[in-house]
Amino acid sequence: MPQQPLAQVPADVKWSWQDVAACLGRDVAMFFHPTNERGRTRRRREVTAKSICFSCPVRVDCADYAIRAREPYGVWGGLTETEREAIYASIPIADYPRLEGEGARMASYAIERAMAPEAFTA
Ligand code: SF4
Repeated sequence: MPQQPLAQVPADVKWSWQDVAACLGRDVAMFFHPTNERGRTRRRREVTAKSICFSCPVRVDCADYAIRAREPYGVWGGLTETEREAIYASIPIADYPRLEGEGARMASYAIERAMAPEAFTA
């Protein structure tokens, strides 16, 4: 089985979408779990972060970046680490998205499902 590539920033990445992000100026600790955080505490923090992502105008751009970069940590584009790991595992290495927009396109169902009511159950 081929090795999955490690997290890496895509060569064509643009960061301008962050200028209008709903999380701009917010405490980043809400989006990244502290060491050893588990269970309901972790889930509650993730749901709080996801609720901010829900109304973010650049949610799809954020998710696209995180998927292409295989970001291992944090809530990005409304997707938790666990939700993104499922995306990473579902895409064959030879087909892995590299170009801008490909990550969002290939994971569009998971990106929308991450904002479904059941995804906010703490
Ligand atoms: S989708 Fe969430 S993490 Fe991404 S920029 Fe928007 S608020 Fe921030």
